[in-house]
Amino acid sequence: MNHIKSMTIPELGAVLKELGQPAFRAKQLYTWLHRGVRSYEEMTDLPKNLRSILSERYPICPPEVVRKQESKLDGTIKYLWRLSDGNCVETVLMRYHYGNSVCISTEVGCRMGCAFCASTLGGLVRKLEPYEMLDQVLFTQVDSGLSIGHIVLMGIGEPLDNFDNVMRFLELVNSAEGMNISMRHISLSTCGLVPMIDRLAEEKLQITLSVSLHAPSDEIRNTIMPVNKAYPTQELLAACRRYYEKTNRRISFEYAMIDGVNDTEEAAKLLIRRLKGLPAHVNLIPLNHVEESPLKPSKKQAVAKFQKLLEDAGIPATVRRTLGGDIDASCGQLRRNYTKQQAR
Ligand code: SAH
Repeated sequence: MNHIKSMTIPELGAVLKELGQPAFRAKQLYTWLHRGVRSYEEMTDLPKNLRSILSERYPICPPEVVRKQESKLDGTIKYLWRLSDGNCVETVLMRYHYGNSVCISTEVGCRMGCAFCASTLGGLVRKLEPYEMLDQVLFTQVDSGLSIGHIVLMGIGEPLDNFDNVMRFLELVNSAEGMNISMRHISLSTCGLVPMIDRLAEEKLQITLSVSLHAPSDEIRNTIMPVNKAYPTQELLAACRRYYEKTNRRISFEYAMIDGVNDTEEAAKLLIRRLKGLPAHVNLIPLNHVEESPLKPSKKQAVAKFQKLLEDAGIPATVRRTLGGDIDASCGQLRRNYTKQQAR
């Protein structure tokens, strides 16, 4: 947590104390940083010599916009950012009736290898630092001029594979002196790293846990999600039950509907049996076709039928509306296309 924007107020206090500064400056500095300033020069109420020492020792290095695409259909905005080391990540701003939400990346690339996902095609490059996740929220807000009240950790990367940095990011973005975004307005999505779900339960956060289930059986799940070989479906669902017992938070299950793979009546019936007694919500997502993959989205009727089977069994199930269909808005696609172009 060496970057100045990954630090908490007490940590900033320690840095400033060493520079012979009074304690109240820590909060002042923190507030400026969390407003998304691009340089110390903007911090007009800090002494000039302090500003110059800080800019030498703790450069702010804000991300730069490489690409920005705005959907004409629904106002969704997608950003591709260049980080200080040249790597790129993407963030999507979505506009809902309840407010604006950003979908942020937690890693550069991903090592989970899901068969349907564009983010994992080049493997994991590195994990993001806490401030690099915060910057996505901050600079999306600054650039778009739209106030952001909700966050989903569903962009590139596996958040539970970057546990400590993600926990610090949540603390920062939730802090009253910072963006003050309520934990209840934050969702974290995982492909199902069982030990990490147990660790997250210990944190007793008010966030929503989303689990990318995508299949009710090992037979199906093994073919699309390599992580299932390490943590099979039943073990994952047992961890979800423990999570619920610890936190009392209903779990949201993501289920990407793939033609002929996981969208049969048999799959729906098994899913119903496996989710029995677990307060859950199932999000049915029509698969977003990725060029490199042979997997195709389910037919509309199959999705509707699957949803009805779940609903009739008392499991709330919604079909996720597709946003930004005209701008490569599903995760990993913008970075992927950009990296491919650069390689040509
Ligand atoms: N690694 C985390 C979060 C990032 S992926 C996770 O696996 O949950 C965010 C969500 O998008 C996951 O549910 C993922 O399975 C889903 N997803 C990835 N590629 C997709 C695609 N082509 N179509 C539909 N959903 C996809």
